[in-house]
Amino acid sequence: MNESRKGDQPGEACYTFYTGATRRAAAARVPSGERTLGRDGFVLRSLPGGLIIRGRNDLGTVFGVYELLERAFDVRWFMPGEAGEHVPRRSRVRIGQHRLVFKPAFRVRWVGKGEWSLRQRMNAYVTADGRSVGIPWKWHFHTFRILMPPERYFADHPDYYALVNGKRELTASQTHGNQLCTSHPGVIRELSRNLIAALDAEPETEIVTLSPNDGGGFCECARCRALDEPGRDWFARYSRRLAIFNNEVATRVARRHPNVLIKVGAYAMYARPPADPAWRPAPNLFFQLCHLYFCHNHALAGDGCRAGVTYDPDRARFLPNQTFRELVRQWRKRSPHLFIYEYYAIGGMARAGLPWPLLHTLLADIPWYRDEGVEGFYTQLDDTLWHRLGLNYYLAAKLCWNPDLDPQALLDDTFRKGYGRAAAPMRACILAMERAMEQWNRCVSYGLFGESGEAFGYFLTQVLTPAVLARMERHLARAEHLVAGDAARAARVALTRRMLDETRRNLAARRAAPPPPPPPPEVEHF
Ligand SMILES: [Zn+2]
Ligand SMILES: [Zn+2]
Repeated sequence: MNESRKGDQPGEACYTFYTGATRRAAAARVPSGERTLGRDGFVLRSLPGGLIIRGRNDLGTVFGVYELLERAFDVRWFMPGEAGEHVPRRSRVRIGQHRLVFKPAFRVRWVGKGEWSLRQRMNAYVTADGRSVGIPWKWHFHTFRILMPPERYFADHPDYYALVNGKRELTASQTHGNQLCTSHPGVIRELSRNLIAALDAEPETEIVTLSPNDGGGFCECARCRALDEPGRDWFARYSRRLAIFNNEVATRVARRHPNVLIKVGAYAMYARPPADPAWRPAPNLFFQLCHLYFCHNHALAGDGCRAGVTYDPDRARFLPNQTFRELVRQWRKRSPHLFIYEYYAIGGMARAGLPWPLLHTLLADIPWYRDEGVEGFYTQLDDTLWHRLGLNYYLAAKLCWNPDLDPQALLDDTFRKGYGRAAAPMRACILAMERAMEQWNRCVSYGLFGESGEAFGYFLTQVLTPAVLARMERHLARAEHLVAGDAARAARVALTRRMLDETRRNLAARRAAPPPPPPPPEVEHF
């Protein structure tokens, strides 16, 4: 890349940044291999009068620059846009001495998208000047519809599609149902061919996604059913048939595109790995395990979920986090390629117009995922809800990049830099909500409540009581007073004001309505 200098005027000191694969980096023998730096890590190394910033690739070098901006210049990007930027003004800066070799803990990091995510050193769906610069990637999650379009195949081959209640029929849905008959040799052949063609067209692709459409409607034909494991629970109903199908496709794709990882879901009715001890996943499969239908309110490493105390054990579509923990380990034992799908934004809460206070779990869970050898991390993120969920997003991104950060120090840093003089009351305001969730102590899950906004709103009426809201209001009013005259911080505090006012209004409406009935146990909740 290049060298940039400061100090062309006589008498000024000269300091040089050697960014990228410079001669100076080569001469200093800084490591640049994948084994040391991962996919996109970097080295920072001070020299007399300068600093080498050498990434494993250009993206890694950019990450090295952002890391330096954070470490040496105290820059932060709390959210996209100017309101999120914290750039201290100083007449003198001290860069300090650096000798850092940084290999990102998660190879695949996906929190948000665009430039903000790039600055958080994520590497999926990141952009620079509108140009995609992250992992070349195809498709998000549910892809049967894309890979086997019904309008192309159904007329001649209804047998390619799922047999449900004795019929092979399509609905108009673009996202749910219309599943494939995954044991059909023609489906395996055509889908593999289409997947290979997509990769031929974009050969730089590193990850491609293969997963059933959302919702139920899986094939009930005798051949598909014969692949299932009888007697297993809802979370394993289709695990083995899909595991076999995934292997069939992955093996075919590997012959032509051996370096592409095929991301497949481990979700809902196929969240568990097959019990079949003979099953070995193809080495090019990347399993994305979804933390849905488990608990969001207790940390994964703890034993907070307790049958009969914090959840109703009769719900067939809920399992406690102790079981999720086992699933992580079971998948991890079978494959080095495990990718987590988290829900630090979730539809039920968005529909209720309410916050989703998960800092008390996510600060512990992301480092735990790293400790378990997880390779990729993703969380859902709703871009319209930064005022409610911004701290979930920001802190998830920070830990996804560096799970070695101390969570308490990270919180301190976030409140201090983000809110300045209002740090203490803002912290008290936000943590009042977190404490209320912890003290309420019930498990929270689609598997217990269903996914409606009514159900989510109802549970939050029990958590965010009028007393908790009054406490938050007191702290927030104090924060507003303290940031008067500090435009950037006042803008951030105003976002929390918007969140609290919305919360109060939406909870009042919810309190006035009758409690929603619990979801019937046998309805599909997706
Ligand atoms: Zn079938
Ligand atoms: Zn729980």
